[in-house]
Amino acid sequence: MGYHNTPAIALRKIDYGDSSQIITFFTRDYGKIQTLAKGLKLPVKGISGGIDLLSHNQIVFIQRGRSHLHILAEWMLQESFCSLRDNLRKFYSALHVMELVGEFCEVNDKNEPLFHLFVNTLYEVANGDDPSVSTLAFEVRMLALVGYMPEMEHCVSCKTEIDLAKFALFNASEGGLLCQYCGSCLKERMKISGGAIATFNCLAGKKVQRLERLKIDTSIRNEIRLLLRYYFSFLLNKELKMWKYL
Ligand SMILES: [Zn+2]
Repeated sequence: MGYHNTPAIALRKIDYGDSSQIITFFTRDYGKIQTLAKGLKLPVKGISGGIDLLSHNQIVFIQRGRSHLHILAEWMLQESFCSLRDNLRKFYSALHVMELVGEFCEVNDKNEPLFHLFVNTLYEVANGDDPSVSTLAFEVRMLALVGYMPEMEHCVSCKTEIDLAKFALFNASEGGLLCQYCGSCLKERMKISGGAIATFNCLAGKKVQRLERLKIDTSIRNEIRLLLRYYFSFLLNKELKMWKYL
């Protein structure tokens, strides 16, 4: 039996028996893990009962042999992000980000940069005015951190640089953009403007330091959102639950 101590965000919880819960965390040091929280639903004097979804905690868990279900031994709340719950748009954006982390991370697959991106995004969404830029930036940067960043600068077929003065064509199974010439024969393709491509690459973090200074036109934002929806659905082979709320 080993004790492990790590920062963690609660992603999912389900009741287990009368008094316990199974809580899935995304942790900094161990990736996604499942823990059994015994007696968590019972009222304990002096302790605020449960662990809320999206809360940022310091947890101690006990690993039992080869089992993937660990025992949650202790936790200390670091940040509950309570302001997310006062604003539906922010709350849904945070749930969307949480869903993406849950879908793209495998159990026990550590990804510390993604953990920091996740935590920072939750702080930005909770404390900022408009969650849309932080959410889009999370989606684009997450793709790089989980190894699915599409090619957004050159045509995936002929390798020429994409001309941002024109539109280009995006195809998920090809893994990125195609110039108008190479993309013309594809049946499945999404037209995307040069402005949306430039903004996508900006969100990927190469040029922008401070996201709050980045303003994105509604039409460009919608284009990127549609592209991400199409690409994520292709990668996961299903629709994400939170899309309809964004
Ligand atoms: Zn081409």
